[in-house]
Amino acid sequence: MDFNFSTATKIVFGRSKIKEIVKALPMMGKHVLIVTNKIKDPEYTNIDSIREQGFDIENELHSKGLETQRFIVSSEPSIELIEAGIAFAKKNNIEVLVGIGGGSAIDSAKAISAILANSGDCIDYLEVIGKGKQITKKSLPFVAVPTTSGTGAEVTANAVLSSQEHNVKVSLRSPLMIADLAIIDPELTMSVPAAITASTGLDALTQVIEPFVSKVPNPITDSLCREGMKRASRSLGKAYMDGSDIEAREDMSVASLFGGMSLANAKLGAVHGFAGPLGGFYHGPHGAICAALLAHVVEINVRAMKERDADNPNLERYTEVAKIITNNPKATVEDGVRWIADLVKTLKIKGLSAYGMKEEDFPHIIEMSAVSSSMKGNCIELTQQEMNEILSKAM
Ligand code: NAD
Repeated sequence: MDFNFSTATKIVFGRSKIKEIVKALPMMGKHVLIVTNKIKDPEYTNIDSIREQGFDIENELHSKGLETQRFIVSSEPSIELIEAGIAFAKKNNIEVLVGIGGGSAIDSAKAISAILANSGDCIDYLEVIGKGKQITKKSLPFVAVPTTSGTGAEVTANAVLSSQEHNVKVSLRSPLMIADLAIIDPELTMSVPAAITASTGLDALTQVIEPFVSKVPNPITDSLCREGMKRASRSLGKAYMDGSDIEAREDMSVASLFGGMSLANAKLGAVHGFAGPLGGFYHGPHGAICAALLAHVVEINVRAMKERDADNPNLERYTEVAKIITNNPKATVEDGVRWIADLVKTLKIKGLSAYGMKEEDFPHIIEMSAVSSSMKGNCIELTQQEMNEILSKAM
């Protein structure tokens, strides 16, 4: 056995811990760029929402002598958005970046701080569609503060960017991009509406299942995944039904964090293998796409292993997944698949046709998915026919 494990330099977790940002930032630089999600019109962002919850981040930072600028992200990030962010940061002599929001804001801050330190064009460094240029310098100081519980982007080594030219979402990736500080304050997720709680929460659940059954799990990610599955399965439904249930929100924040730590060190699988190309092609929200795929990927992965790789240790691992998520020590894989399908139904997750997916697009989606780094982590190599079947079922 051999493995590496990298994560954020420091992780601060807990209710009201957003306040720690005022202690940490002055040590990192004076000119701060806050990259944040737009939540609603006009220009109402996570920063405004947090101010309404009683903590004015900008005022607090100004009182310490820091200067702040806002860069507002109103969609999942594209290459163009990152280039605009880089130009804005250069114009304002930015020394430190803070991503406060969902995965979109965090990935945007992460990508901007990486390219600022490494210079050149963002696209050259991208996986799959780039020129294979490597990130060789550590990002500018970067703090990540998630306000959704889903992606775990606060501790991962990649930023997912869409290319309009290539109709695909791909990653910028390097351990040198991992945040210097991740502040996870579950209270910040209490304002997330039910539909986004559902889709981001199923992303979190997927991210503690896929690394557990990937080709390269390790004992650290195994422990994180087991605990993450336990917390997400007992609390996602509760957080969806009652967004102010802080214990449930806390569980989902832990699951999301553990998913990020796991995926960064043990890869993912077919759900995320499909999600990149599907997100780039149809522009549906990442969590919702993962949610629509999860039960079908589990079902087909298990069938494929039974048919042609019966000694694959992941068959047993999928049974363990079923036992944990159903909280039933006698559960079978089929019980696990049913439990996921029921949850997806309860959380009112739409099929992928709702985002415009059509059967005639399957060959292109399958071709793009097959080369993604997540698909390479899947427990078994799926055939074209199996991939086709997953997409059909997720329609
Ligand atoms: P998101 O960041 O796009 O946010 C979804 C929506 O939630 C937005 O409309 C946003 O304004 C709103 N929102 C966020 N916080 C809120 C709050 N506290 N209250 C009310 N509304 C709030 O969604 P996401 O699922 O967190 O992130 C998705 C992005 O992350 C995608 O681009 C995906 O590809 C990427 N991703 C990255 C990684 C990684 O490791 N870097 C992993 C998985 C996914």
